[in-house]
Amino acid sequence: MTVTFTCQRCGECCHSFLKNHGNGVHGLNLQADETHLFPKEHVKPLYAVGKGRHRLRRGETITYQLDMDTCPHYTDGKRCAIYNKRPNVCQSFPFALEVVSGNCPVIKRQVTDDKPFILETGGLKSEFEAVERHRKYLAPYMDLPLWIYDLDKQDWRKCK
Ligand code: SF4
Ligand code: SF4
Repeated sequence: MTVTFTCQRCGECCHSFLKNHGNGVHGLNLQADETHLFPKEHVKPLYAVGKGRHRLRRGETITYQLDMDTCPHYTDGKRCAIYNKRPNVCQSFPFALEVVSGNCPVIKRQVTDDKPFILETGGLKSEFEAVERHRKYLAPYMDLPLWIYDLDKQDWRKCK
């Protein structure tokens, strides 16, 4: 099955961020140079590298997250108030490293868990460029001990 994607600008990807995928509750992923776009009090760490057996020691935060369920830039008219400078994760959505998100209704309509699919990639240059930027951003850290910050427990968990 071939899946096609054209953004319908429905705004479904701008709310309901706070979810638990088994390793704690997490929000919208932000790179370090994007945190200034959001209210300081709602920006928390997301991933860090650092040592420690059960507790993170001397950690270096590499990405951040928004601790709000709905983006503060999502307007009543279902528009992004900062569209031209929106975070990388918004530019790439519904595509991320190695995955496509079923949270996007355009994808959800076409993809089910049990059916393989091929993505029709024409016209997705800017989304894939954003995925590549994120990959490059994370590349220096990928082989280091990684920790993730759980918004629910307000504490770090070891990833690997
Ligand atoms: S949920 Fe999908 S279709 Fe809707 S605005 Fe986001 S990327 Fe576009
Ligand atoms: S920054 Fe814009 S595109 Fe990203 S979640 Fe907020 S409203 Fe949506």
